[in-house]
Amino acid sequence: MHARTGIGYDSHRFAAGGPLRLGGIDIPSDRHLVGHSDADAICHAVTDAILGAACLGDIGRMFPDTDPANRGRDSIDMLERAMGRVRQEQRLRVEHVDITVIVESPKIGPYRDAICGRIAEALGIPAGHVNVKAKTNEGMGWIGRGEGLACIASATLMP
Ligand code: MG
Repeated sequence: MHARTGIGYDSHRFAAGGPLRLGGIDIPSDRHLVGHSDADAICHAVTDAILGAACLGDIGRMFPDTDPANRGRDSIDMLERAMGRVRQEQRLRVEHVDITVIVESPKIGPYRDAICGRIAEALGIPAGHVNVKAKTNEGMGWIGRGEGLACIASATLMP
């Protein structure tokens, strides 16, 4: 019974107009993230972390941005489908997910519990097995200038 770990990273650019879709919830904001799907960077990083831990490739291979079916796609649906593959093909379950969001604004803290709950629901695990942390980039670089946000996630999977 060996644990397996995976990491995921994602970033998306901001554009004018809210709300900010992040971690499967809509956060009040005057900006949103731009991407081929709904650009939910938390869901994308977590999806890559669980696919990585299961040695099932990555989100880009599973949901190519050249496929019109993935345009505007709900990333919670992508996470659930990836989890389905992890269960079916590798007989693995998620034990724990840890997420770091790097963003200057808005503040993620007030929405932390809601995000944990939504991600946990998609993975079929208790909310207490998902952790979300938020940091600023101390004003440095493209994140510091508010051009976009980045997210890093790790996942621990068990048989
Ligand atoms: Mg992405």
